[in-house]
Amino acid sequence: MTLIAQPTASHFIDGAYVEDSAGAAFDVIFPGTGEVIARLHEATPAIIEAALASAARAQKEWAARKPVERARILHRAAALIRERNAELSALETLDTGKPIQETLVADASSGADALEYFAGLAPTVTGETMPLGRDFVYTVREPLGVCVGIGAWNYPTQIACWKSAPALAFGNAMLFKPSETTPLCTLKLAEIYIEAGLPAGLFNVVQGKGAVGASLVTDPRVAKVSLTGSVPTGRRVYAAAAEGIRHVTMELGGKSPLIVFDDADIEDAVGAAMLGNFYSSGQICSNGTRVFVQDGIKERFLDRLKARTESIILGDPREEATQMGPLVSAAQLEKVAAYVAAGQAEGARLVTGGARVLLNSGYYIQPTVFADVTDDMSIAREEIFGPVMAVLDFGSEEEVLARANATEFGLAAGVFTRDLARGHRMAAGLEAGTCWINAYNLTPVEAPFGGVKQSGVGRENSRAAIEHYTQVKSVYVGMGPVDAPY
Ligand code: NDP
Repeated sequence: MTLIAQPTASHFIDGAYVEDSAGAAFDVIFPGTGEVIARLHEATPAIIEAALASAARAQKEWAARKPVERARILHRAAALIRERNAELSALETLDTGKPIQETLVADASSGADALEYFAGLAPTVTGETMPLGRDFVYTVREPLGVCVGIGAWNYPTQIACWKSAPALAFGNAMLFKPSETTPLCTLKLAEIYIEAGLPAGLFNVVQGKGAVGASLVTDPRVAKVSLTGSVPTGRRVYAAAAEGIRHVTMELGGKSPLIVFDDADIEDAVGAAMLGNFYSSGQICSNGTRVFVQDGIKERFLDRLKARTESIILGDPREEATQMGPLVSAAQLEKVAAYVAAGQAEGARLVTGGARVLLNSGYYIQPTVFADVTDDMSIAREEIFGPVMAVLDFGSEEEVLARANATEFGLAAGVFTRDLARGHRMAAGLEAGTCWINAYNLTPVEAPFGGVKQSGVGRENSRAAIEHYTQVKSVYVGMGPVDAPY
């Protein structure tokens, strides 16, 4: 059997690929065909030790560099990512099963945006001076030290870049553990950083399941943990990090509302609802999976939604015409299919989709729309992480705001209306880290991204990330004699 995406070795530590075949072997599967494309080994304690030791050593020297020097290296890495976008996108498609049409524009390129943005920001980070008459205080923003990044499987390249770019720009090291389901892309990023001139040890990649991640989180050399994952994993990692009073960023799941008022542009609202449920086969944390549609336009909305959903080209993600690929794994397909069955059993109306698609032994399911969904149904309460849209009816603005907020999650929310005052009123009332008005799921690096309530703590991207990858030191300067009473 040829393993078409086999990397040089499983891990990347201190500037080079490293293998330790004593670690348990695991297969990497292309979700489009179910074919094994690589076989890797989980990190052993020796691998984890080498990764932590080299990161701790490299970070000290890196922190002492001028911010513009660090920035120059990140800019070079961003340029290499852009040059290799086609190759990186093809690998992302093999790793995740997302269509090449998407990966060419949404993954490596958004990672490069993050590197460019934080390269630009690094030299602007300054402290403050507090005059106190004779004495004064100045502050310095210092790096945290060794940061651990733990990624989910839906956006492996983007997640690694969103975490490593601010970490490195502000003088930290990053030790990254990708999801075991999608371990390949982050290794390519590690190669690129080295080629761009990043000193060895500053971006290490170790593979493994949750247990490997858990052992990183509790190591005394680790100052911060940034996780992208589900709420239950977030709870465990947050608690483990708290033992050592470590900094955390938690980017967790959601069940976000997308609210469409009678006066909305229907084609725009339908398009946004489809993007917010079917892009990446629905495997996006901020998806608007509870689509609330006001009574007056319900039937017109559903007609257009059904027609446009049925025209989606589902197929092999390597083909450029394909608009929707498989789910990431057989387990995810089972989970999503179980939710489709639950939706039907709980009395929701299946408007379109719902069936598995038999194609090349991959993990395909049709884009699915349920109407007449009520707030108590499991498909309206739980994160499905697949192409399953729940359409709910509503009458008034007050009613929909209360129902939209009646969830433990608070990652994102969207509203479609031509009434600008109402759009802003809704944004003010929605309990979410990101709100879109007449748009959905756009997450430019310039804007803070993260959740409220159970969807997480901390923010990625934007200037807000400075707070999460640096700490403030206050320096009090005494300018005169010490006034001691004894
Ligand atoms: P999981 O929460 O299962 O896993 C996330 C990562 O954490 C994986 O690398 C996993 O390893 C690792 N992990 C699991 N247990 C532990 C532990 N005890 N200590 C340390 N690390 C651990 O998420 P998925 O990978 O299944 O991704 C899907 C989820 O991610 C969805 O629920 C989605 O909502 C969320 N997500 C959130 C985003 C956001 O920005 N808010 C963005 C993308 C996804 P492994 O899986 O290899 O065992």
